[in-house]
Amino acid sequence: MAKKQTCDLSCSECSVRNCYRKDKKYPAFCLTEQYKGAVDQTKKLYSSNSLDGRIARAAAEIEGEYYGRLTRLEETIRFAKKLGVKKLGIASCIGLLDEASLYAQIVRTAGIETKTVICKVGGVDKCDIGLPDGLKVCPGCNESCCNPALQAQILNEWGAELNVLVGLCVGHDAIFTRHSKAPVTTFIVKDRVLGHNPAAALYTAKFYYKRVLDEKTFPEPRKEAVEAEQEAAKKASARKHKKAL
Ligand code: SF4
Repeated sequence: MAKKQTCDLSCSECSVRNCYRKDKKYPAFCLTEQYKGAVDQTKKLYSSNSLDGRIARAAAEIEGEYYGRLTRLEETIRFAKKLGVKKLGIASCIGLLDEASLYAQIVRTAGIETKTVICKVGGVDKCDIGLPDGLKVCPGCNESCCNPALQAQILNEWGAELNVLVGLCVGHDAIFTRHSKAPVTTFIVKDRVLGHNPAAALYTAKFYYKRVLDEKTFPEPRKEAVEAEQEAAKKASARKHKKAL
């Protein structure tokens, strides 16, 4: 039987959420209580004129001015304008390039310059980064890998003051964020199954999509992909063995 994971109590297990209105009592495991010193430091950070301070106040001002009245599309543009952004970079997935084009047009209408870099920029074949051909979605073809580090470099060199993600894959978004000099915010989160609305998996998890709560029902990877991985591992081990002789 699978071992049940233990859990350090934290905010996801808190039912009082006293840190918001401060009209109840903090629970024994409360992080606000444990991090009192750090709270003071962050207060200083957000009230300073640093980039973090300006971002923190701009985001909170938009919340106060337009709460529940702006879509994320509009909020992102208001946010950029509040920060005085003149150059907004767009890091887009190839599968969402039409959406990125329309988004760029709307941002430019608001008087902000844009530059869009597609995820496949550079055209590096997946085999060139060590993936077996059989792991491609379309084996036997050139299939370029996503290149988020290059997306970030191009937008860094252009002088983007804010970068916006339009549907980068899970993981590629992490690389982009690590390499971007400008702050990064997300407009579209890719979900290939749920029409880019990943939260739908949570909204349906208690009934229709129960499988997310049962690791045993996790779908198997494609058979051809597993075989390609095994073949590649065999070849790599044979190469290692030959070298050692
Ligand atoms: S910070 Fe404390 S009060 Fe706030 S949600 Fe976390 S545990 Fe609850």
